[in-house]
Amino acid sequence: MSHKCEAIVVHCMDYRLQSYINQWLETNLGKTSYDRAVMAGGVFDVYDVIRQVDISARLHGISKVILINHEDCGMYGPGGTEKHHEEDLIEAEQKIRRIFPTLEVDTYYLNLDGTFEQKS
Ligand SMILES: [Zn+2]
Repeated sequence: MSHKCEAIVVHCMDYRLQSYINQWLETNLGKTSYDRAVMAGGVFDVYDVIRQVDISARLHGISKVILINHEDCGMYGPGGTEKHHEEDLIEAEQKIRRIFPTLEVDTYYLNLDGTFEQKS
């Protein structure tokens, strides 16, 4: 592995949130220490997420996974309550931990006002 980074960050494509996510990442991870997987719905399709985590782990030796879902996500539609997002985030975390036991996994729920709530 010729080059490494600390983490992979998985978040939704929704344009409304990108500036909040950019600021949060710069504050919490710096500018250049993470891979980024932009997926419609965040962890909505957990197997797509796992595939990206696997690639990031193999290519860049990450030690951490950061999963961010958000309020009013179009992929979830009207059923996208905070509770539903929290359940999906925790399920994704558990699946990732089972497959990649050495990786740390943090999950967040991002509100439309830009505030992040840590879920695990
Ligand atoms: Zn979304």
